[in-house]
Amino acid sequence: METKLRTDITIKDICDGFVYNELEGKGLFGLSGKLTIQPEYQRNYIYADGKRDVAVIDSLLKDYPLGLIYFVKLTNDKYEVLDGQQRITSFGRFVTNKFAIKVSGMEQYFDSLAPELQSKISNAKLTIYECEGEEPEIKAWFRTINIAGVPLTNQELNNAIYSGQFVTLAKEEFSNSQNANIQKWSAYVSGSANRQEFLECALDWVSKGKIEDYMALHRKDNNIKELKIYFTSVIDWVSSVFTDVESEMRGIEWGRLYETYHKQPYNSATVSEQVKKFYADPYVKNRRGIFEYILGGSTDTKLLEVRVFDEATKKSIYAKQTAEAEKKEVSNCPHCTIGHEANKSKIWKLAEMDADHVSAWSKGGATVAKNCQMLCKTHNRAKGNR
Ligand SMILES: [Zn+2]
Repeated sequence: METKLRTDITIKDICDGFVYNELEGKGLFGLSGKLTIQPEYQRNYIYADGKRDVAVIDSLLKDYPLGLIYFVKLTNDKYEVLDGQQRITSFGRFVTNKFAIKVSGMEQYFDSLAPELQSKISNAKLTIYECEGEEPEIKAWFRTINIAGVPLTNQELNNAIYSGQFVTLAKEEFSNSQNANIQKWSAYVSGSANRQEFLECALDWVSKGKIEDYMALHRKDNNIKELKIYFTSVIDWVSSVFTDVESEMRGIEWGRLYETYHKQPYNSATVSEQVKKFYADPYVKNRRGIFEYILGGSTDTKLLEVRVFDEATKKSIYAKQTAEAEKKEVSNCPHCTIGHEANKSKIWKLAEMDADHVSAWSKGGATVAKNCQMLCKTHNRAKGNR
């Protein structure tokens, strides 16, 4: 079976010669007679409920995508709708004034819409997958579409929408499983080349997350210099700062980290020792956070999600601290006892206190009972994130 993505067909094209059978509730033909909208195996039109059909038109007016539509190519100029019949029938019926929508509170048929809204609808381009093959193949495929849903990734769609020289060159570089660099890249980028995930990552990095804007801007370029240089710079930077490859490195936002930290010097031998130390530390719950933690000067322990004291430890330390405090008639928060405020002798409830590392985790303090003290929430917060 062969498939081809088409993004050149407009609503106006489809609605040319649109025929709808009110009696059978079926959209019959469109695309100047070349398209059969409702083949035998399709269910009847079920969108005529004043909600779903209106939603289709609403989407068009708001520039929302209508989603993928599938055509079966029968001969050179005969097509059948495989999936998308409900959406096509909805806009076909609207354009032929079969139902109205509300525009700023007013019921409007297509003919009474402002000209700019009419042309917005007419000129909207559809994303159509055209497939050609034997009937059993196509029926099997149809079942798969309906069961599995999304057959295209975001980047595959973007490649179709912004097709041109730039995309062709970019795919040659980033979507080519024969490219010898793929092996190296896959240490840092997750996904696969042929599902366009490397290209997506390269575009994401160079565009700082604005892939579609970038693709629109560079669509007509006949080179991919900037994209390639930027991607290579990020990869080279990561692999020179972190000389050991760890599996948790895949899919990290290296582009963002590169932007933030690439101007700072790092000693790769020291970095490597730190990585090993944190990998061996049982209190580090989030290993993916290790790299950013080190790049940022080992201060933001939130990134590591260091394990906290368990409830049993907290309860027993609380009981011990409170018993001692009551004997001395002082607060059970050791920091409150030194203060001059009214809380000097306040006995806090367990729920009003938090566990704290006496010797900070980042300075080697372990998450064990003898390194645990309970502080009132205010004092614990004041001690900061250590
Ligand atoms: Zn306190």
